[in-house]
Amino acid sequence: MATSHRATRNRTSRKGIHPPQAYSSFLETYVTVDQKLWGFRATGAKSTQLNHRKRVAWARIRLRRFEQRLTCIAISVNLYAFVTLPPGFWKWSVRRLFSPSKNHSESNMTTEIPMPTAVFPDLEGKLVLITGAARGIGRAIAEEFAKQKSHLMLVDLDPSIEQTASEVASTYETKTDFRIANVTDSAQVKEVIDQAVQPYGKQMYVLVNNAGITRDGAAMRMSDENWDAVISTNLTGTHNFCKASIRFLRKANGAIVNISSISGQIGNIGQTNYCAAKGGVIAYTKALAIEYPGLRCTAICPGFINTDMTARLPSDVWKYATAKTKLRRAGEAWEIAQAVVRSATAYGNTYAPCAVVTVAGGMELGG
Ligand code: NAP
Repeated sequence: MATSHRATRNRTSRKGIHPPQAYSSFLETYVTVDQKLWGFRATGAKSTQLNHRKRVAWARIRLRRFEQRLTCIAISVNLYAFVTLPPGFWKWSVRRLFSPSKNHSESNMTTEIPMPTAVFPDLEGKLVLITGAARGIGRAIAEEFAKQKSHLMLVDLDPSIEQTASEVASTYETKTDFRIANVTDSAQVKEVIDQAVQPYGKQMYVLVNNAGITRDGAAMRMSDENWDAVISTNLTGTHNFCKASIRFLRKANGAIVNISSISGQIGNIGQTNYCAAKGGVIAYTKALAIEYPGLRCTAICPGFINTDMTARLPSDVWKYATAKTKLRRAGEAWEIAQAVVRSATAYGNTYAPCAVVTVAGGMELGG
């Protein structure tokens, strides 16, 4: 009786090993682990499965121990670096992590991606007139319309407009003409428009008022010349081209896209003249849309864009401006140009006769 009782106890020992005599203490460890991991109870019939599970469990234990050792080493190295490296190094690292860089290409938010191009068939073969097209945003707009095979009339004060026109024409194989003219001169503007629309049955599909200048300075010290120059180029120039083109644009069910600025929406230090002019462009665009319901009217408000206009600004201003964006970088001219094309096409805004489109990397969101 005594023997059989001991045998029963052995078969159902606390560690669940059967029979206990068949296992060394070494193996008992595994079986205990098996039990803990899977609630597994070893029996003679499952011995093959048990061996496999024992190996897996052991491998897991060793892996966990290895991880623990690695973590200990990492913590020690970090502590050693923290104690031994000079405080200047840590300040530099924090600054490098959180401060935006002037050079856009250094930024993590790269724009070096293939430009996505949508095709808008209504733009093909239609007359598109762009002012201030010799360089910067104006040139990018010209290239974006050229991709749509629009026929371009490029206007600028700068004689390099001739070279821009020939480069755009040869690159994108579309008809491109140019005129050297001052947007502030209404007589000159009328002449340019009348000549441009002649070959197109006196129709114009898109007018882009892009020419603009800045003459920054504190309001209390602003010269009359700087005030007048900025208002007449940015605001009066826009009106001159709209006034001369509206009848031709209406005939074509066309669009006006005026390049305003984020400064015209939220203001900017040292730019009272520029903010007044660009804010005026937004109000002017809305008034046009009410006056001429058939026209699609858009004011585009770029933020801080990487062009000659901003290139001359000191690096402190760059840092300040890019830090105000959510994307922590300046915009590129083509990013504005794509917004212009989408605003101009009849497909872009079928139920938006007037829009104010902000393309400013989130600068307008504040915070
Ligand atoms: P940009 O590089 O200075 O180019 C402006 C072009 O307009 C130049 O070719 C300039 O010719 C021409 N222009 C100036 N006054 C003119 C006039 N009276 N008649 C005809 N052409 C004239 O400027 P951008 O950066 O491309 O800016 C284009 C537009 O976007 C401007 O309206 C600007 O206010 C607006 N914008 C720019 C930014 C930005 O961060 N860059 C931001 C918001 C809005 P000249 O070389 O002969 O002066």
